[in-house]
Amino acid sequence: MWICSASLMKTRTNRFAYIVLFLLLSISGTAQKKSVYTGLEAYLQTQNLVNVNKLDPTIKFDLKYATTDNFTKTILYDSLFNIYLHPIAAKKLVNAQKNLKKINPGYSLLVYDAVRPLSVQRKMYKVVQNTKYAPYVANPSRTGLHNYGMAVDLTICDKDGKPLDMGTPFDYFGAAAGINKETELVEKGILTNQQVKNRQLLRKVMVDAGFITIRGEWWHFNAVSLAEAKKSYKVIE
Ligand SMILES: [Zn+2]
Repeated sequence: MWICSASLMKTRTNRFAYIVLFLLLSISGTAQKKSVYTGLEAYLQTQNLVNVNKLDPTIKFDLKYATTDNFTKTILYDSLFNIYLHPIAAKKLVNAQKNLKKINPGYSLLVYDAVRPLSVQRKMYKVVQNTKYAPYVANPSRTGLHNYGMAVDLTICDKDGKPLDMGTPFDYFGAAAGINKETELVEKGILTNQQVKNRQLLRKVMVDAGFITIRGEWWHFNAVSLAEAKKSYKVIE
């Protein structure tokens, strides 16, 4: 009887020790998680968005607005180190990468921009006022699909991470960035056949994954229509 009580006590003590250990590990885990994300990324973590890099780590990215290497020459994304999209757009992007890898395993999608919260749109709008770029930046009162995490700007890169030649850089403001008159642009010598082929490959893998193209920018793709987003989804503030 004494032996039984002693072993029972020992089991209880062990159980208690395990519970304490579990609680300590949980607390330290939470603390670690909190310290990983700061600034904009910490905010995006609290929204209904997916970290695309966790779904598919092979998708490459170079978030231009997180650096000064963009047309505003200003860092618009403070502390953002991953691609965030609405779950619907994220799933489509992963499928687009699969489509691309089937065609050329050495190639990868290279994302320049994904979700763009309204606060950033406001910042961008403010920065370009009184510059030549003012007409190209949407007024934050008119929401776009980037604000829902439903649009992505991207290109294709080779196995060394070098972007394919698409004829113009990302965020080029001019007719050559458009996709509707490419034959004409080749005839005029503004684009080459190879540049158009590269764009067609990007469009093929994206459209096959369910994305919608827009006329004016070869790099921009929508996961749903703006009407659908406005009806069913929420803007990321
Ligand atoms: Zn875009």
